Amino acid sequence: MSHTVTLLIEPLPADVDDIDPDSTFHAVAPSAPALRVAELSTQRGDGIFETIAVVDGHAQEVGPHLERLRASARITDLPEPNLEQWRRAIHRAVGELPAQGEYSVKIVLSRGIEGGPTPTAWLMGFPSADHRAAREHGIRAVTLDRGYDHGAAERAPWLLLGAKTLSYAVNMAALREAKRRGADDAIFVSSDGYVLEGPTSSVVMRIGDEVATPAATGQILPGTTQRSLFSHLVDAGSTATERDIRAEELARADAVWLVSSVRLAVPVVELDGRPVPFDAAETAAFNAYLLSPRD
Ligand code: PLP
Repeated sequence: MSHTVTLLIEPLPADVDDIDPDSTFHAVAPSAPALRVAELSTQRGDGIFETIAVVDGHAQEVGPHLERLRASARITDLPEPNLEQWRRAIHRAVGELPAQGEYSVKIVLSRGIEGGPTPTAWLMGFPSADHRAAREHGIRAVTLDRGYDHGAAERAPWLLLGAKTLSYAVNMAALREAKRRGADDAIFVSSDGYVLEGPTSSVVMRIGDEVATPAATGQILPGTTQRSLFSHLVDAGSTATERDIRAEELARADAVWLVSSVRLAVPVVELDGRPVPFDAAETAAFNAYLLSPRD
């Protein structure tokens, strides 16, 4: 059993259902050359992706991740992906990864080669980094100005703010800035003072009995982990709301988490140099749910 899997995928049009998707997958060794240097994904970050957690052989939230891939394709004018083909590719990758432990499956749809007839697509499965210490003991975060107001997505849809594109250079720069400021991670705030998201995560906070997250109205990525956690909390009778959140509210929250598919719920124990209350039992309950098989 290998600990990594790489598949090159010939993307099928969305409406094709008479071709066996398995015939469109080509397994390659992770170190083998597989992409052309003219790829627009590497040249311009022009493409979209999803990262799906695999926990003990179960791929989490495949449906919501594929729906978001479809939404990202729409926003970026890429051809609509064939979701059944992607579902089968993920299934095949999971079958090749070990049945125990935490793994990641990253699926990528790139605009392809300049002038090329189709997008290019691939999948990588690999062991996830060990996030147990961060889940248990928390991280320090700083708020960083994102440089636009929270209505920017409507005015400037070409910023692609609601799509999960490959262009993460800005997000990585924010993480480096957070480290320069002595923190582990960042929380973006709009120039007019609203909480947005982390560079690779959604922001969740609790004030009193209300768990809240910024509403994803085009200016941030709708988080699959946050949505799954919120529906679980609502089912359990808690108040979990998606709404506008001012930066001042975050500063006086009773708890703050960064949540994402692979890291799961990581408590923020220090924000902008000030301690944030941290409930170990509540965080452990969030992560027990997030580690359970979810579709
Ligand atoms: N926001 C951004 C910018 C992200 O990169 C991510 C995940 O990588 C998220 C939010 C959280 O999304 P998800 O919970 O679907 O992993």
